[in-house]
Amino acid sequence: MFIQIMCLVFSLCTWCFWRLRCRMPNWRPGHRSLLVIAHPDDESLFFANYISSAARAGVQVYVLCLSTGNADGLGHTRVHELYRACATLQIPKARISVVDDPDLQDGFRTWGIPAVCKHLTAAIRSIQPHQLVTFDSRGVSGHPNHTSIYRAVRHLIEAQRACASGASGDGSSGREPCRVYTLVTLPLPIKFTGLLGVLLSAAALPSGRSSSGGGDSRGSSSGGGAGDLVFLARDPSLCFRALCCHWSQLVWYRLLFVLFSTYTYANQLRLTGQLQLDLVTADR
Ligand SMILES: [Zn+2]
Repeated sequence: MFIQIMCLVFSLCTWCFWRLRCRMPNWRPGHRSLLVIAHPDDESLFFANYISSAARAGVQVYVLCLSTGNADGLGHTRVHELYRACATLQIPKARISVVDDPDLQDGFRTWGIPAVCKHLTAAIRSIQPHQLVTFDSRGVSGHPNHTSIYRAVRHLIEAQRACASGASGDGSSGREPCRVYTLVTLPLPIKFTGLLGVLLSAAALPSGRSSSGGGDSRGSSSGGGAGDLVFLARDPSLCFRALCCHWSQLVWYRLLFVLFSTYTYANQLRLTGQLQLDLVTADR
């Protein structure tokens, strides 16, 4: 009986991980990815598996951090901690930009869309990314700084759609668009169940292949998760090692978060839209 149960568990785990392994993007070495976060440590707590997968595939990951994390007066320290954490995640300092804007200070308040868009568009025009990755509408933890980034990105996408629908063509120049992905906020019962949460997420995923490498996306949300990308941890300690670089933030509940968080073991990204790089202007 015991052997039968173990075989059943093993089969279920194999099936779940097979479903997840099918959901990798068709990256090409040299692709550029822009990760937009709100605070130093977001990259370690939430996006470590995406970053490490991209780095292994030869993707150049750039980080735009929209605040110094100065809520407790430790902004300068936290910026240097971000550099060290990113080095652990194989992101060189030259690819990291940290914004210190009076309108975008770390705190439990919503940031204005124009202020976020100003820095977003500047980074996009400078980096010309193939992908942009950030938080979704619930921001994983619900922090208003996180959700503000989503609202600004959504604003850029909608502005381009409106511009394209008002023009005679589709508004594109034939260049490959920048695909926008958002980190899926998992339901609370799944969010803090670690590896079990990964299995539950896999079981809940609708069947379907990633649309990231194909050319059929029209910039709409994939909806329901059918086209979600999933990045599994090859080294679950990576998230912990990156977080340990953030000494000023290393309190017991953050360590517990890393231990039990499903994001330590997998990142699920959803296609949210796309941006025509040549249409991204500072005044939108
Ligand atoms: Zn944050």
